[in-house]
Amino acid sequence: SHMKYLIGANFKMYKSHKDLQEYFDQFVNNYACFVNIDLMIAPMTVCLGTASEMTKDSCVHLGAQNMHYEDQGAYTGETSPLILKELGAEYVIIGHSERRQYFGETNQMINKKLKSALQHGIRPILCIGENLEQKELGISKETLKIQLREALQGIDTLDQIDVAYEPVRAIGTGKSATPEEVQDIHEYIRSVLGNEKSRIIYGGSVNDTNADILIAQPAVNGFLIGSASLDPQKFLKILDVVSKKNK
Ligand code: PEP
Repeated sequence: SHMKYLIGANFKMYKSHKDLQEYFDQFVNNYACFVNIDLMIAPMTVCLGTASEMTKDSCVHLGAQNMHYEDQGAYTGETSPLILKELGAEYVIIGHSERRQYFGETNQMINKKLKSALQHGIRPILCIGENLEQKELGISKETLKIQLREALQGIDTLDQIDVAYEPVRAIGTGKSATPEEVQDIHEYIRSVLGNEKSRIIYGGSVNDTNADILIAQPAVNGFLIGSASLDPQKFLKILDVVSKKNK
C-alpha cells in the first residue's frame, strides 16, 4: 500500500524548554524529511508552544500526550483540545497505559477523548495493550478487542485514527515484544478494526538495535517510542532505518 509510516516520540514528563532547544538544535538540523514517514513529537503540554516555534519550517509534527474531552469548563488542571490546536498540536496520544494505570483513564473516557479530538481535527493515536497478567492468562486478544470496541464505540471515521499496540510489560522495560508476537497481534488488530487506512504502530522498548527487525514485519506501520526518542542521535538512527523500508 501507499501508507506512510508513523513514527511518534513520547517525551512523557521529560525535557525542559532548554532541553528541547538542545534537542531540536541537533535534531531539526540533521533531519532530512523522509518521504515515507510522518514524524510526530509529543513534548510536555506546557512546552508545545515553544516546541512549535523551534520546529517551524521543519518536518516535525507536534502532538500532545493527553487532553480533556470538553472544550472548556470547570475542570481544574485539565487541557482543552482548543488550546492544543492553538499551540500547534496536530496529533494527540489517547489512552496511554500510564494514563490508564496512574490516572484512572477508562475506555469510556478514552472514547469521549477520541470523539472530541476527531471533532477538532486533531489526529488521535489510540494506545491499547494487554498487561502481563492478561498475557499469562492467554487473554491478550480478548483484552485488545474489548479496549478497541469500547474506545471506538460510535466512531465511524476510523481512517482518521491511528492505533498504537503497546504491551504493558514492554513499555520502558527494555524488553520489547518479539517480532512474531507483534506481527500476529497487529494482524489481529487490523481484523478487528476492519479498515485499511489506520496505521497500526508498535510501542514498547523500540530502540536503534531492534527497530530494523520490528519494522520488517508487514503489519507494523510505524512506532511509538519513549526512552529511545529522548536521545536525538538514537531517534535519528531509528528514523534512518525506517526511511529505508518500503511498504
Ligand atoms: C511509550 O511510552 O509509549 C513507550 C513505548 O515507551 P518506551 O519506548 O520507553 O518503552
